[in-house]
Amino acid sequence: EAAETLAALREKLSPRGDLVSPRGRELTLKVFGKALTPIEVVETICNDVQSQGTEALLRYTQTLDGAELTAETLRVPEADLKAAHAAADPKLIETIGRIRDNIATFQSAILHRDVTITPRPGVSLTQRYVPIPRVGICVPGGAAAYPSTVMMTAIPAQVAGVDEIAVVAPPTPFGAYNTDMLATCYELGIKEVYRCGGAQAVAAMAYGCDALPAVDKIVGPGNLFVALAKKHVFGTVDIDSFAGPSEVIVIADDSADAAFVASDLLAQAEHSPGSAILITWDESLLAKVESELARQLAELERGDLARDALSDFGALVLARDADHACELTDSFAPEHLQIETRQPESLIAKIRHSGAAFLGHHTPVALGDYAAGPSHVLPTGGTCRWAAGLSANSFLRSGSVTQFDQSALAAIAQDVITVAEKEGLTAHARSISIRTE
Ligand code: NAD
Repeated sequence: EAAETLAALREKLSPRGDLVSPRGRELTLKVFGKALTPIEVVETICNDVQSQGTEALLRYTQTLDGAELTAETLRVPEADLKAAHAAADPKLIETIGRIRDNIATFQSAILHRDVTITPRPGVSLTQRYVPIPRVGICVPGGAAAYPSTVMMTAIPAQVAGVDEIAVVAPPTPFGAYNTDMLATCYELGIKEVYRCGGAQAVAAMAYGCDALPAVDKIVGPGNLFVALAKKHVFGTVDIDSFAGPSEVIVIADDSADAAFVASDLLAQAEHSPGSAILITWDESLLAKVESELARQLAELERGDLARDALSDFGALVLARDADHACELTDSFAPEHLQIETRQPESLIAKIRHSGAAFLGHHTPVALGDYAAGPSHVLPTGGTCRWAAGLSANSFLRSGSVTQFDQSALAAIAQDVITVAEKEGLTAHARSISIRTE
């Protein structure tokens, strides 16, 4: 029963192009004059921005976000960034400095470094890593402001050595007019911030236009329109991932504090939407967590959102034992995994698939969301079976460098010629033999 419940939830959480709110449908009708699916909306917007450039970007910014901007006012003036920084709460600026250090320390430590081997005399083989030159970051701005997203995406890019970073955020009080977000950009040295969001901003960054020069890679979270647009432009540029709703599985045993566990489930559920699942083999903990959820929900500012998310995408699961809990978790492949047990290290060793894991009673996911060091941009929807979270390495491109001297070439020449001739590529064979015969 537990496996079936989780499989059904996994299915429900897959990011799909046909899920849209009644308000979204209304907006589509108003802007396009007919009912379109989100995929059709995104294709139309991307194609228009590709063919009409700045004009289409500004038009969609006006019709979808209600902002009358021009090619000149699309970009946030540096003076506004500076003013937001000057007006920001000094505590926020100090905090950003400390978090920047945490993120940069971890991201620098895990950065890929060039590897050179000399398998035989006269042969040098190198895998080298170079930063992607120009990166675009999507900072959401529909329902909440996210200075943390700026930090969790831009700092890894800076550690990797990316030359240029452009930030896009919708022209809303939570987005490009949010002073905390602007102050964060300024504190991190990001001077290129644009007042646009949604599919139109993604398309502008991918294809480039007069008002917004093209980038090489687009990263950062967003709603369904942003996610679908990133998928649409992949190939013209690289993207980090196709992200869906946020998820957590909490594995807990009888050593767990029910109040802690409930607070972790609610922290995930207050994303809208967010999925929060508890797996335990201790029946009494289930009951305690259930009553804690009710108690804490009543006190939460975003309690209504969290309650809806829990009823749509939440589950309290009773497993047979710890091994069964690990099996269920591994097949769900959650974005976040929190293990609140006596020996979390022994459990994580049995679980292969999780975007980011948090061990022990004192390591809530929120710590990773804001301050620990690894990025909070993680693979959702079960994609952590094959995808990794964002890191400084996401902003590096690898390439190989090969060098042979004459005798080393002579030693391998016949192997190349044999395979080239089998393939009928005699010019390939000749480019070897001309050097060695
Ligand atoms: P958003 O900035 O992603 O999207 C807002 C934009 O969507 C608008 O500017 C508009 O252009 C476009 N849009 C909205 N309705 C549309 C419609 N009907 N047709 C065409 N375009 C439309 O902001 P959001 O909506 O608040 O979504 C942010 C999402 O990002 C949330 O789901 C949040 O949970 C998620 N998030 C994830 C992380 C993470 O790291 N995992 C961090 C922060 C936010």
